[in-house]
Amino acid sequence: MQPDPCPPAQEVRFLDASLISAAPAPVVGYSTVIATTSRGLPILPRWCVWVQPSANVEPDRWERRWLTAVSSALTTWERELSVIQVDSPEKANVLIERRRPPRRRLSGSWRASNGSSQLQVAEVLRGRRWLLEPRVTVLVSPELRAPVLEATALHELGHAFGLWGHSHDPADAMAVSQRQVPVLQLTDRDRVTLRWVYGQDTRFGLPSSNPSAASVTDP
Ligand SMILES: [Zn+2]
Repeated sequence: MQPDPCPPAQEVRFLDASLISAAPAPVVGYSTVIATTSRGLPILPRWCVWVQPSANVEPDRWERRWLTAVSSALTTWERELSVIQVDSPEKANVLIERRRPPRRRLSGSWRASNGSSQLQVAEVLRGRRWLLEPRVTVLVSPELRAPVLEATALHELGHAFGLWGHSHDPADAMAVSQRQVPVLQLTDRDRVTLRWVYGQDTRFGLPSSNPSAASVTDP
């Protein structure tokens, strides 16, 4: 039997974390704006993603629209990354919630109120191993028309999957501000930046080096 690719977390310890400038060279895509952490880029070789289900067994019209848009955005990223959808938050590294994010005063960016992504860094016990993992909570507001919903989900998921920065080119999914026509596809710049991110050294996804955790790792 194959091991469960997304085992539930038995315990989670959140660590202090903040995003810092990566300042890479050479420049690839918009790699210069991508932030990292003191433990390396917050990325995983495989992402377990939980999407908030509808409140009732039958989703209403608005929930269906939201679920469709989020699902389309996820599918776009699935062409570039290994993504597994899971049925409970305990199994997930990325949690997508149907909720309007709190208002933020941030250079008038439209996304401040349509969507948001929050990164936490955690040591997570799964099975017998403590792993260093990013935990990202993505909020996508339900109160948007369908293309804006999808563009918001695409953009916020880009952050969740490691693109912690904004491109200055408005055609990119990770553009700092919205175009007239919402961006529903990744550009080559998005892709090469993503590939660059996934080529960097990181401690995420590896057994945690925390000595207190190490004793739990051994049976
Ligand atoms: Zn953003």
